[in-house]
Amino acid sequence: MTDRSLETVTILGATGSIGRQTLDVLARNPERYRVLGLTAGHRWRELAEHCLTWRPPFAALADEQAAEALRNHLREAGSHTQVLAGHAGVAEVAALQEADTVVAAIVGAAGVRPTLAAVEAGKKILLANKETLVVTGALFMEAVKRHGATLLPVDSEHNAIFQCLPAEGVGPGVRRLLLTASGGPFRGWTREQLTAVTPEQAVCHPNWDMGPKISVDSATLMNKGLEYIEACWLFDVAPQRIEVVIHPQSVVHSMVEYLDGSVLAQMGTPDMRTPIACALSWPERIESGASRLDFATLSSLDFQAPDNDAFPCLGLARQAMEEGGAATAVLNAANEEAVAAFLDRRLGFNAIGAVVEETLQRTPSSRCADVDAVMDVDARARDLARSLIREWAC
Ligand code: NAD
Ligand code: MG
Repeated sequence: MTDRSLETVTILGATGSIGRQTLDVLARNPERYRVLGLTAGHRWRELAEHCLTWRPPFAALADEQAAEALRNHLREAGSHTQVLAGHAGVAEVAALQEADTVVAAIVGAAGVRPTLAAVEAGKKILLANKETLVVTGALFMEAVKRHGATLLPVDSEHNAIFQCLPAEGVGPGVRRLLLTASGGPFRGWTREQLTAVTPEQAVCHPNWDMGPKISVDSATLMNKGLEYIEACWLFDVAPQRIEVVIHPQSVVHSMVEYLDGSVLAQMGTPDMRTPIACALSWPERIESGASRLDFATLSSLDFQAPDNDAFPCLGLARQAMEEGGAATAVLNAANEEAVAAFLDRRLGFNAIGAVVEETLQRTPSSRCADVDAVMDVDARARDLARSLIREWAC
């Protein structure tokens, strides 16, 4: 028997860093939530473990063969979880009628269709998958409005800004939004020093424990560029009203500056379970498991401007946002391809930004009427980026 008074939660990207941390928060609050659906890409053994622990009625894997393996494994284990397969299966689980909340935690543009499926079903969406907003921008925000979905930011900076803003959002009293960035593992390095960076060094973030793609994005500062675009859409603010500040301790997660000079900051230890718990229970509060901020041992909070010469990706993201149209989809596609090639040791660290810049330059501006058109732009930008990567391979 399932308890129908509990809030039902589906997690897209359940085997990833955000997915696992969401399950950890749910485990601490069993009196409030039950898991309805869990999805992942291809890691069926990890999803099987989650299914046996959480007994969700539904699961899905994007990879059809992996879905078959999961189905067989669960059947032998006596599980009643129904397993769906392929991208359509993931989208179907994203839009289940019985779901109250959908956690969008797939990495990359692969999250676009499933996240939109949840939006079109009018769900409460906890958005971690920033690339979806970077790629589909206005179309996504229009769909949220049209289908009466609720959007709550999980990305720590956006969750911080959300907490520092009044309920009606950015009004005339707000002067600007300040996005903080740790600066990643190579803060203070010169462009020359960055030439020899390895994937092992890049995925080793000083403050946050994250999936490999976002870890590399944090090292190049593209993550802050994607977040800058994400903030423009989420809070409906002009790009000029957002500033990025490097803050190495990752204690202040972002800030809102008001016209009267007040600056509101949201603080906490760097633990994604805090924004996940905040978004899950908003406007109430629940235990997240994050350790508390100890002001007695907090020696200093430092702030500085980003180094745009050594880390050009932030500037490229600003440029793409200002250009508008599908430029941010091109930026994202080129970046995903370049990061995958870097992790695969086919491309140097500094070449990531170069691939993105060249792909942007060689792609004519375009406006897209629907998501299919955006995904065509995404596919063409990937082809171009891949050919550049082959040319510049290390
Ligand atoms: P991750 O690599 O750890 O996990 C990604 C998840 O997506 C996995 O469950 C994987 O199976 C699934 N997936 C990958 N490709 C898929 C596909 N084609 N179809 C269906 N599922 C697919 O990534 P993560 O670090 O958890 O990040 C997830 C998202 O959250 C990203 O957009 C990231 O930018 C954002 N985010 C992450 C953090 C963090 O601390 N990890 C913080 C803020 C925002
Ligand atoms: Mg973030």
